[in-house]
Amino acid sequence: MEHKICFNCRTSEQDVPVVRMSYKGKELWVCPRCIPSMIHEPQIVQSALEEAEKA
Ligand SMILES: [Zn+2]
Repeated sequence: MEHKICFNCRTSEQDVPVVRMSYKGKELWVCPRCIPSMIHEPQIVQSALEEAEKA
């Protein structure tokens, strides 16, 4: 089974709850700690999103 990890900080759902998101047709997971970063620092998160997109 695939482990769900936060695209930004790589925290596993084994450690924190993660929330499912959709980005450019792909499924991503994000933990609650990283949601504020997405809101306030989108430029920092963007590079992580691009990495996640390649995976
Ligand atoms: Zn995170």
